[in-house]
Amino acid sequence: VIRIRGLSKWFGKFQALRDITLDVRRGERIVICGPSGSGKSTLIRCLNRLEAHQAGTVVVDGVELNDSLKNIGAVRKDIGMVFQHFNLFPHLTVLENCMLAPIWARKCPRAEAEATARRFLERVRIGDQASKYPGQLSGGQQQRVAIARALCMAPNIMLFDEPTSALDPEMVKEVLDTMVELAKDGMTMLCVTHEMGFARAVADRVIFMDRGEIVEEAPPDEFFSRPKSERTRRFLDQIL
Ligand code: ATP
Ligand code: MG
Repeated sequence: VIRIRGLSKWFGKFQALRDITLDVRRGERIVICGPSGSGKSTLIRCLNRLEAHQAGTVVVDGVELNDSLKNIGAVRKDIGMVFQHFNLFPHLTVLENCMLAPIWARKCPRAEAEATARRFLERVRIGDQASKYPGQLSGGQQQRVAIARALCMAPNIMLFDEPTSALDPEMVKEVLDTMVELAKDGMTMLCVTHEMGFARAVADRVIFMDRGEIVEEAPPDEFFSRPKSERTRRFLDQIL
């Protein structure tokens, strides 16, 4: 569903991504890790055109990402994104947060948007909090709302950018459990995370990035037990 060829990205003179080539098949779960500043977020953001690239091609579900607003719109409809900071609207209730995009972007009737929102809030085990405001919830609950909100748009692909790194340790598990369930349901997922237990449990492939490049790419058991590159080994020594 995703085909990346020779992708490069510069911020001014600084090259953040170098010649990235990657294919993601439908239903695949990919974990991306690597040191701070290695380009993980930039790569994820290039997949839904939150960042524009300067070289190479990115094709999502057969649609190439270029300057065409039509193409960008088509790809964004297909991709849900969850960030480190949940980016919920503070002045809207949990339920309203989940209904907003389907109503405005998909022209979904209100009653249908509400039914869908309630269904996904149940699914992330937070149905009882629907009428609260984000500020009244714990970090872990807010992040599950963010996941439910993304799912309400019926995406084919979910991107996660360090969804648990801003959470207190006791809340990390509830969010990871939600992500594991999504993975079991066959969602195509790209997750930037340093939660290596999650990577072992659900990833089909782990990708290690450093200085804008993909340095290593392997199934988790191979990645953790027999990393090929010295850079990967040093990174794993630091985080495990
Ligand atoms: P982290 O683990 O800290 O989130 P990351 O791997 O996600 O790091 P990116 O956020 O992708 O790293 O950033 C890659 C490089 O690009 C960094 O050196 C960063 O400073 C630079 N960069 C990112 N966004 C911008 C921007 N909008 N303008 C200029 N430079 C940027
Ligand atoms: Mg990042």
